[in-house]
Amino acid sequence: MASETASIVIIGGGAIGLGVAYHLAKRGAEDVVLLERNQLTSGTSWHAAGIVGPLRSSINLTRLAIYATELFQSLEEETGQSTGYRQTGGLWLAQSQARLTELKRIAAMGELTGLDARIVSPGHVHDLIPHMRTDDLAGALWVSEDGQANPVDVCMAYAKGARAGGVKIREGVDVIGIATDWGAIRTVRTRDGENIRCNKLIVCGGAWSRHLGTMAGIPIPLQAVEHMYIVTESMSDLASPFPVVRDLDGRIYLKEDAGKLVLGGFEPDAKVWDPLGPEGDRPFLELPEDWEQFEPFMMAGLNRYPGLETAGVQHFMNGPESFTPDTRQLMGESPRIKGFFVAAGFNSIGLMSSAGVGKVMADWLIDGAAPMDLWDVDIARFEPVSAAPRFLAARIPEAVSDQFAMHWPFKQKTTGRGLRRSPLHCSFEAAGAVFGAPTEWERPLWFATDQDERTFDYSYGAQCWWGAAAREAEATRNRVALYELTPFTKIDVSGPDACRILQHLCANTIDVEEGRAVYTQMLNARGGIEADVTVTRTGETAFRIVSGAATRWKDVAWLKRWRDTLELKVEIVDASSSEAVVGVMGPRSRDLLSAVSGANFSNGAFPFSTAQAIDIGMAIVRATRVSFVGELGWELYVPNEFAEHVHEALVGAGVDFGIAHAGHFCLDACRIEKGFRHWGHDIGPDDTPLEAGLGFAVAWDKPGGFLGRDALLRQRERGVVRKLVLFKVDDGDGGPPLLLHDEPVYRSGKLVGQTTSGARGFRTGDNLCLATVALADIPAQEFLAGDFEVSVAGGTYRATPLKKPAYDPSGARMRG
Ligand SMILES: Cc1cc2nc3c(=O)[nH]c(=O)nc-3n(C[C@H](O)[C@H](O)[C@H](O)COP(=O)(O)OP(=O)(O)OC[C@H]3O[C@@H](n4cnc5c(N)ncnc54)[C@H](O)[C@@H]3O)c2cc1C
Repeated sequence: MASETASIVIIGGGAIGLGVAYHLAKRGAEDVVLLERNQLTSGTSWHAAGIVGPLRSSINLTRLAIYATELFQSLEEETGQSTGYRQTGGLWLAQSQARLTELKRIAAMGELTGLDARIVSPGHVHDLIPHMRTDDLAGALWVSEDGQANPVDVCMAYAKGARAGGVKIREGVDVIGIATDWGAIRTVRTRDGENIRCNKLIVCGGAWSRHLGTMAGIPIPLQAVEHMYIVTESMSDLASPFPVVRDLDGRIYLKEDAGKLVLGGFEPDAKVWDPLGPEGDRPFLELPEDWEQFEPFMMAGLNRYPGLETAGVQHFMNGPESFTPDTRQLMGESPRIKGFFVAAGFNSIGLMSSAGVGKVMADWLIDGAAPMDLWDVDIARFEPVSAAPRFLAARIPEAVSDQFAMHWPFKQKTTGRGLRRSPLHCSFEAAGAVFGAPTEWERPLWFATDQDERTFDYSYGAQCWWGAAAREAEATRNRVALYELTPFTKIDVSGPDACRILQHLCANTIDVEEGRAVYTQMLNARGGIEADVTVTRTGETAFRIVSGAATRWKDVAWLKRWRDTLELKVEIVDASSSEAVVGVMGPRSRDLLSAVSGANFSNGAFPFSTAQAIDIGMAIVRATRVSFVGELGWELYVPNEFAEHVHEALVGAGVDFGIAHAGHFCLDACRIEKGFRHWGHDIGPDDTPLEAGLGFAVAWDKPGGFLGRDALLRQRERGVVRKLVLFKVDDGDGGPPLLLHDEPVYRSGKLVGQTTSGARGFRTGDNLCLATVALADIPAQEFLAGDFEVSVAGGTYRATPLKKPAYDPSGARMRG
């Protein structure tokens, strides 16, 4: 049997695989092989309508997409191969005021990333495309940098550049097996019986990526659907240039192509397509025309551009495109197998994404670490169950529909629900819980007292749940409230080297006495925050790590990778699914726990930041005295089978103390009042503890130092150039602004940063947000004494930086 070795194998010769190949060549990587079972571009890439729209849902994703607008031009010059790229500008239409508000928020993302994105009037739209209907519009968003490219040409330019840089591109090579050895990639097997030995591979297999993942036991949660557009015959009177038009409320897009119009869209009932079906491996596959499915797009197209009525249809294009459960792509190294990388599931934006994705994935493959915060799209954000076929079949049509649906604040998915439930689910439901499911965990968002309160009416203004959350905050402040914290990630680290590895990975000292809980960050070599956790010493050689729900796979993988790299004797056990967690929070929590337990909850016997095994009713649980809401309180870690009993005991005795249940929205508002940071929103791999205001949790001089210390020391010496700050934001004429994230922050009228999270504080009555601001060269104190404003959906609101948390600044309540 023939065998070859490669440093990196790329599987798939579409836009993504070729984008990665090109950038690996640019980085000078050697022995890179790209395998394509048919011909280059013959999967989905050749279908692409070619739209290039750099404005994306987050700052980092927008930055990656902007890179395409530069690279598609320079590629032509470099390779002599046209990419067909041209900038036409783009219009995002709003048919309602709510949509216009959404577009104003999206425009802010443009401002933050340097794009020319601005709201324009229907009259302006009419001037740009005179034959388009505009009388039903509330307004539109104009993005100068929108444009289009030719997908096949872009791919061929990548291929040319990659070959010139030494990448071996092999067509007609079908991968049928991926072998691993001790949790690491070893061999790629082809249909011709060849074995290619490698330590790293990247699956860029488009719609077929899930199948490629199963070859190595890696869940890749994506599902292909039929995705379609039509191309008309040549049309006269088309505006020139003809901006890309997204009629979001009509669910359609329009673009011009060589004097013809292209019309496509995102339907609410997309047809799931089986990539392993009879024609799944046919190159340049065109799925059958489906005019019934297309009819709503046609109607919306005729409404928007009446000239379509007389235009003949030259071509009906229907191709498979893969979508993911949260409509964001899958990138990065699998947390399960070392050296197994993925770049797939592009939700109809794979061509425009290929440049930025190729660049960062090349860096990730070569350097072994993501070059920037890519958590939004990191494959580690998904649980394996998210790749279950029936879950995907249920969820994916909603993901397709979400492309152009309203992106309401706090919007919850409606499909694939009820999958992950805490043992307390039914009890919380009986108590009135209205559930949401971020990370697929069903979580009480708030507790309703009547049927009216159960309905989630989405809005960009006052939230329907504010009344309920205010009630819950009042109970938390004055009495005692129970919080569902079961989704927390729980990792047990034990063994002879347990203390050593955690001392190395955590910036704070975790070599503390047994029973102490330490708040700390795990840093990367750049000093950026990879994890924000509480570490409790549960024994001489045993520790419990607790972090947020979403980072379970990432955190476990981080620990295991360092254990293997440092060759330490440590056992790492993911205990997340074995225990329920109940937060008992509020000034009467001590009284309530004393009523159901024989333990001593006094400050002397059970100080803040410590943990003990205690009895609750007839059960034994571990209680940790910490509080994310900033009150006197304990988190109870309860083996699943005792959860109901513990809950019953608490609720039964709680009647005497005015007990209430409280949901996730109340929790989030309370933590912002305390200025507590949330990983993934306020802090992440690009933020250091010094920038995040978490320097108090850094043990600079602990023996042996810690990962990231050198970078942090250098930064301390130089001084930080940006800072995370808590702001109080004034009401405007129309009441309080709805603070979410990515709202621009100005100092003396100059853009200096953006919000990272925000909330209405129900205990303080303040509108609050955390925001990252660039200090320029101004000393922090002087900088923060300036005049600040936050822009929310086009309105500006005065903002005051707070030196201390808005609620209980001394922390006396939590430590009381
Ligand atoms: C109708 C339509 C319109 C679109 N419009 C746009 C647009 O306007 N703008 C935009 O940015 N995107 C658009 N897209 C999306 C875009 O085309 C895709 O996101 C992108 O092409 C995906 O590229 P890829 O490289 O991931 O997948 P693919 O192009 O499918 O490449 C994957 C390759 O992997 C190969 N492969 C699979 N299994 C194996 C194996 N076992 N061994 C070896 N090789 C294997 C396949 O043969 C295939 O060539 C559109 C898609 C469709 C269908």
